[in-house]
Amino acid sequence: RVQKVVVIGGGFGGATVAKYLKRFDAEIEVTLIEPKTTYMTCPGSNWYLAGLVDVQSLTHDYTNLIAKHQVRVIHQMATAVDAQSKTVTLENGDVLSYDKLVVSPGIDFKYDAIDGYSKEAAQILPHAWQAGTQTELLAKQIKEMPQGGRFLMVAPPNPYRCAPGPYERISMIAAYFKEHNPRATIMILDPKTKFSKQALFHQGWQELYGEMIEWYGAQDGATVSKIDVANKTVYSDFDTVTADVINVIPAQKAGKIAFTAGLTDATGWCPVNQDTFESSLQKDIYVIGDSAIAGAMPKSGHSASSQGKMCAAAIVSALRDLPMPQTRNVNTCYSLVSKDWGISIVGVYENRDNRIAEIKGAGGVSPMSASLQERKMEADYARAWYKSITMDIWN
Ligand code: FAD
Repeated sequence: RVQKVVVIGGGFGGATVAKYLKRFDAEIEVTLIEPKTTYMTCPGSNWYLAGLVDVQSLTHDYTNLIAKHQVRVIHQMATAVDAQSKTVTLENGDVLSYDKLVVSPGIDFKYDAIDGYSKEAAQILPHAWQAGTQTELLAKQIKEMPQGGRFLMVAPPNPYRCAPGPYERISMIAAYFKEHNPRATIMILDPKTKFSKQALFHQGWQELYGEMIEWYGAQDGATVSKIDVANKTVYSDFDTVTADVINVIPAQKAGKIAFTAGLTDATGWCPVNQDTFESSLQKDIYVIGDSAIAGAMPKSGHSASSQGKMCAAAIVSALRDLPMPQTRNVNTCYSLVSKDWGISIVGVYENRDNRIAEIKGAGGVSPMSASLQERKMEADYARAWYKSITMDIWN
């Protein structure tokens, strides 16, 4: 009998696991469920805000997965999972059966975490934390901001996708303003006391953008409790701030289908066996990417894709009754501070006592003392990383 694997979500995690399942065992029937016919990546979407890349170069489709890798792709939303009968129901009513199911739906937002913000409000004050129309809306608002105006970011609490992402975004918006709106100011109100690559970001901001960027954290009382959308005003203990453009990045949780399928715990994320990514709550269902609780691995596209490969190996091993190979995992998050100024953080991980843990001394961050030439090299590595990972997944 042909073994069937269904994958929900065609992003960094889902598209990787689908492709690698076919590479590891071409006999398995792999079906990928993804509503979108094209997928715009969040990685690179900050670069778009600075005008460094266009939407086209960040957009990928499923033609290679279908034609080159024999993945069956269905452009539908999955609306329900029945773990007992091992079936997935699609929006159009079709029901698919599986031997193994992989769920990689990315994130959803806790819209009610800030009084006054909502899904509807995101059409006026965009989050742009899922790439596509939201990214284009934010880019348009930045372009149309009055000369000398104020841009405000309401940063998210931990844990969220892409730890350095908000701060790369600030850098890219500053790069845009430096050229097109030099008197503009940027403020960040952050519910955290510190953030990823903080010293490196502050160094780059000072060097490249002078006094343009102001950051306030939880220690300053900058946790935003309320937003008046119509008057573009945010309230925190730190201050009441009005701005011309406001980017609100809300608190996050696992993608909706993870809740529907009973894969989440009290944290709002999905506990898994960190060796195989099989759900701790439902047998024969695997969760990868942002939705999964993956020990020390951060929520990133690189992590999701690494996990997709691990999960493909785990499923093929389980279907063939073989032991799961021991794997090591990598994550790299590059950020551009300007077109020619790149910084990075790298982690290498192994499984210890059923938990993904970082291997001390194997990763690290860019040195504070790097030369301009080294910063430029890292910016080039960032672009090369983007090319190679998207080729690996969608080509
Ligand atoms: P996603 O890539 O979001 O894919 C989920 C997919 O599932 C979507 O296509 C969605 O349509 C689909 N889906 C959801 N629900 C259903 C359903 N019910 N049925 C069918 N399909 C469904 N990471 C990096 O590694 N490097 C970076 O430089 C980087 N930069 C970033 C910059 C920004 C601004 C942001 C916001 C993120 C960045 N990330 C980066 C993080 C990265 O985008 C995510 O961590 C990654 O996309 C997670 O992959 P995923 O498969 O979990 O989810």
